[in-house]
Amino acid sequence: MIRLDDITKQYDRPDGAPPHLVLRHLHLRVAEGEFVCVLGPSGCGKSTLLNLVAGFIRPTAGAVLFDGRPVRRPGPERGVVFQDATLFAWLTVRRNVEFGLRSIAVPPAQRRRRTDEALRLVGLEGFDALYPHALSGGMRQRVALARVLVLQPKALLMDEPFNALDAAGRERLQDELLRIWQAHRRTVLFVTHNVEEAAYLAERVVILGPPPGGVRAEVRVDLPRPRDRAAEPMRRLLRRLRAHLDGAAEDAAPPTGDR
Ligand code: ADP
Ligand code: MG
Repeated sequence: MIRLDDITKQYDRPDGAPPHLVLRHLHLRVAEGEFVCVLGPSGCGKSTLLNLVAGFIRPTAGAVLFDGRPVRRPGPERGVVFQDATLFAWLTVRRNVEFGLRSIAVPPAQRRRRTDEALRLVGLEGFDALYPHALSGGMRQRVALARVLVLQPKALLMDEPFNALDAAGRERLQDELLRIWQAHRRTVLFVTHNVEEAAYLAERVVILGPPPGGVRAEVRVDLPRPRDRAAEPMRRLLRRLRAHLDGAAEDAAPPTGDR
């Protein structure tokens, strides 16, 4: 469903300095219904990769395809959730969530039904009349997620969406997201620098190397759900992911199952 073919991305610098090369020869495919986490240190190009799929930016070279068609601009079939929920402060939760439906002129009755459904999915029914200032950070992220889900996107593109939350809030929202993913089998491309988060969520973890980089490793995660965050198989997985991140795995014998 999502396909990045031999992507190079560089950012021009205003002062005539050489351009900043962030991604080089990056290949990535995400199948329909798959939950893929892209893991890498800060500055390695995770947001750049996501913004390419979202259609906010264009690659310097290579092709970005969604459902077999080149991505040229943002679209409602690709819903994006950012780290900081930017909600309209002067609109209630309900009006924030239905904003996108109003802008595509969905009739009121259908708008109401879809908004109710999205609020229910993220566990915000009963909060629809509140304004953003009255919400916790976790609730604001739920609204941001509902605002995307209401448009029924084929894929969710998530850029470190739970970073601003405390550990308990983060874990709660991870479980909510998994529940939503399992109920609807939407494709999820989720970028994070948090190893535990990637290990808990993903069916497949794609690890980016330092820039200018591409995919350093891919690890398929077959642990049954709900995953036990503290059990030995999880700890083993975390060690393996950290080794890839550190680059240590390049020197060691490759563990089975990795590319
Ligand atoms: P990550 O999300 O992994 O932290 P980013 O994709 O945000 O990484 O950024 C990768 C590199 O590209 C960083 O060095 C960042 O400063 C640079 N970069 C990101 N966006 C731009 C931009 N619009 N213009 C210039 N440089 C950028
Ligand atoms: Mg980023």
